[in-house]
Amino acid sequence: MTGADHTLPAFGVYCHIPFCTHRCDYCAFATWTDRSELIGDYMASCRRQAQDLAADMPPATSVFFGGGTPNLVQPSLLGDVLAELRLARGAEVTVECNPDLVTPEQMQQYRALGVNRISLGVQSMASAVLDALGRRHDPQMVGASVTAVRQAGIDQLNLDLIYGAVAESLADWKRTLADAIDLAPDHLSVYGLTPEPGTALGDDLSRHPDDDDMADKYLLADELLAGAGYEMYEISNWARAGAQCRHNLLYWQQGSYAGLGCAAHSHRNGRRFWSVRTPERFIAAISTGASPVAGSEELGPDERRIEALQLALRTSAGVPAGALPDDVQHLLEPAGPGHLRLTVHGRLLANEVALRLMHSTGQLDAPDRFCSHRAARAPVDVADQADDPPG
Ligand code: SF4
Repeated sequence: MTGADHTLPAFGVYCHIPFCTHRCDYCAFATWTDRSELIGDYMASCRRQAQDLAADMPPATSVFFGGGTPNLVQPSLLGDVLAELRLARGAEVTVECNPDLVTPEQMQQYRALGVNRISLGVQSMASAVLDALGRRHDPQMVGASVTAVRQAGIDQLNLDLIYGAVAESLADWKRTLADAIDLAPDHLSVYGLTPEPGTALGDDLSRHPDDDDMADKYLLADELLAGAGYEMYEISNWARAGAQCRHNLLYWQQGSYAGLGCAAHSHRNGRRFWSVRTPERFIAAISTGASPVAGSEELGPDERRIEALQLALRTSAGVPAGALPDDVQHLLEPAGPGHLRLTVHGRLLANEVALRLMHSTGQLDAPDRFCSHRAARAPVDVADQADDPPG
């Protein structure tokens, strides 16, 4: 990104905002709809945690406020956390936003705080599909949000899209892609709808996506986005040249990052650790000076190597040519000197190819730590789910 200091090692900070106005039908994230009275204490606790960790953290090359719904919180409270962090020159600072809560003033406040990237939860540009997903915004709000982002002078914009709802026709999806392209974001994240257990969608078999329909929609996305000049750099992510999300890249490259807030994951020096899942427990830990860490793991060299291959397999950079067994070679194509990556049809079978990779390395039982997508929020998706059921 412009002005970024690429001589520094990449280091990211993720701050989790676990509040929403309403739970979408497919959502299994660590977020709550009935605890807005905690917002002040929670953000003060995140600020305190940032203060406590600051001395031990290198300059952040990326900061990501994710959720939940970060733009439910007063911008100044995000700014208080940001002010405690040492930022590298040109650091990428992203706030994830829901279109129904975006205002021009909010975007101007973000800009004044140093936010330079907005990730907008669009999901669909068809009202009936948004209803079927349990979303509260409408497509007009998306256009207004994008205008507000641009008028505030925030240069970088990601649109999150979700395909695969049973209520979504191929024509709906095509229109969503076309409308999203017309809005000219520099980045698009395109996720397949996943029926997570315990969600309204997951519990209703009649609303589970159809595999063939999902495949058709992925192929259409790849065709239209490539045709519009976006480059696929990870299986669910497309960007204009130079607009790849630095924060996401950290996760895919096994980089180092610190998580702030409840349910946030951190990775430092090969050790992963994660915080207590609920905002109440996080606030209580910080206020008493106790550690908010709920668990940790350390990967051995072999596990790290396999994980690196699994992650690289999902990217356009690909994996070393000899890393994959012969029986998946027909799903691969050249990706630069000595490397192969999945073809577009191979991407449809990415999980199977990853299994073959693990089988060929004798690691079939190793857990798939980085499932598929939502990289920016991945650290909270795999948090200690048993700690407290989603509200
Ligand atoms: S999908 Fe996003 S907006 Fe909807 S409940 Fe989950 S975190 Fe909140």
